[in-house]
Amino acid sequence: MERLRRFSQYIFALIGNSYWLFPWKAPIYQGPVKRICFPGLNCYSCPAASMACPLGSIQNFLASFRTNLQAGILHPGTYVIGSMGLVGSVVGRMPCGWICPFGLIQEWLNRVPLPRIGLWRPLRWLRYVFLVVFVVLMPLFVVDALGYGSTWFCKLVCPAGTLEAGLPLVWLEKGLRAAVGWLFAWKLLVLLLIIFWSMVTSRPFCRVICPLGLFFGLFNRASWLRLRFLADRCVRCKACARVCPTGVLFFDGTDDINSTMCIRCLRCVSICPAGSVKAEFGPVMRRDYYGKKIGVGNPQ
Ligand code: SF4
Ligand code: SF4
Repeated sequence: MERLRRFSQYIFALIGNSYWLFPWKAPIYQGPVKRICFPGLNCYSCPAASMACPLGSIQNFLASFRTNLQAGILHPGTYVIGSMGLVGSVVGRMPCGWICPFGLIQEWLNRVPLPRIGLWRPLRWLRYVFLVVFVVLMPLFVVDALGYGSTWFCKLVCPAGTLEAGLPLVWLEKGLRAAVGWLFAWKLLVLLLIIFWSMVTSRPFCRVICPLGLFFGLFNRASWLRLRFLADRCVRCKACARVCPTGVLFFDGTDDINSTMCIRCLRCVSICPAGSVKAEFGPVMRRDYYGKKIGVGNPQ
């Protein structure tokens, strides 16, 4: 299963970054495929990016919301939220584990042989701040004289943007090198911090910052693909806790197995020696006391 997941990560990283003509043509591809949102963090401005980043697209939509509203143009926002909502409602946060190139980069970095540092669990709540403040409120309300906001998460935080777009563009475009200022220095600092943190902690960006991961994760409990923990079979060997890349602790009841943190890597399903973790696909079913399905609807 892990090999299949790794294969999927590489294939999707190539699909999302398949514009290899950038050294000879325009440094940013803007053809028709760029209108499609890639279901992972893959910067729009990366020279090789063939698709759009959903996080950048939704910020762009909110940043120009006032003018779009006056012109009656609301379809870009409904398209992005709708398509990402569709992905989330089918597979939940699975794109983070199987598709997202920045998730793959963090996994590479975490192989560096350094001492491990665990994550202080309350930091996970910061994801809500990044989603609500940087992705929704700031693009909507921090606007210029003409009423246009900005893509604040991309500008101030996103290390994927710095790695995939900022650095390559500064390298490719001489004019940009002269314009580099404090903002670029700040983004470089954020990127370096995330790189170092990823070497000592598993997927820190996904667990503390990523607003897209949180958006998909909000679907985890109701998506068609879900995990089920059969507590009566569990022998409390803690193998699932040891392999979980995002620190989900479900065997002792600390977390729900379908918590917003779960990236659906399915490592716990593969490793559990007692068969207590199951992946299931279909509408949420009501179950009786013995776990038998008794109808469609919210679990009771
Ligand atoms: S709970 Fe299981 S499927 Fe979810 S991230 Fe952890 S190991 Fe992967
Ligand atoms: S790996 Fe399986 S048996 Fe071991 S603690 Fe996790 S759920 Fe329980």
